[in-house]
Amino acid sequence: MSILLSQGWLVLIAAAWVGLCVGSFLNVVVHRLPIMLQRSFEAEARDVLDLEAAEPPPRYNLMVPRSACPGCGHQIRAWENVPVISWLALRGSCSACGTSISARYPLVELATMLLTLVVVSQFGYTWEALWVCTFTWVLISATLIDADTMLLPDQLTYPLLWLGLLVNVSGTFVPLEHAVIGAAAGYLSLWSIYWLFKLLTGKEGMGYGDFKLLAALGAWLGWSALPTVVLLAAGSGLLYALASLAMKRMQRDQPMPFGPYLAAGGWTAFVFGEYIAPLLKI
Ligand SMILES: [Zn+2]
Repeated sequence: MSILLSQGWLVLIAAAWVGLCVGSFLNVVVHRLPIMLQRSFEAEARDVLDLEAAEPPPRYNLMVPRSACPGCGHQIRAWENVPVISWLALRGSCSACGTSISARYPLVELATMLLTLVVVSQFGYTWEALWVCTFTWVLISATLIDADTMLLPDQLTYPLLWLGLLVNVSGTFVPLEHAVIGAAAGYLSLWSIYWLFKLLTGKEGMGYGDFKLLAALGAWLGWSALPTVVLLAAGSGLLYALASLAMKRMQRDQPMPFGPYLAAGGWTAFVFGEYIAPLLKI
């Protein structure tokens, strides 16, 4: 915190505001990207099967159409779209029809703000901080999409992977060799476990999205951080599963997304690596 305050309140408030606004955009990505993927998948399937679409679907992407209430179609006006504040002012409901708006939206905005501030407090007001913020924001959207749909879209994992390699061309976080080996080792390690598990049990324990995500994490953090990332991911995933089973909130055979734990492990190892490394040596 001291590093933040030494730079003045104004910059701190600006960083918090950027975090909130990015969080608001991430809500859109998390909601729309899976729908966009589903639609393009359906269009491709129709193409392959030579089926005519009933009518050309209306344009749908991250910008179009404007956000609207799912209850009544009321378009969200600018003042209703201010992160957190609008949700509080409207007491979590649509201004036109009163349909309640999930508390998840302001919570994602607040979480994005918090994580952004943590990154800035660790890396200062530097270019590195901006890169790590980007890394953080992509991971937040990947986490939520995987938790919602059990899918990690290539549209998030691949750009994250390429960006990690590019950032490290000049050795920003780790030497380039470490980044390249990290990306390859990240992919191949989970890929091998997947096939071993599949050959032994006939079941699929993970998805290809998980391999790509760990490859991306390897590209950012370098190969030497991979054991820490996997340990943190597996540990937190296991704890969550055991707690959910104990509280009977999950069935024994219920599949569970691994992406959120990989993302959390990767983020923690990246931002707090200097504190974690000594702990794991004991
Ligand atoms: Zn409404």
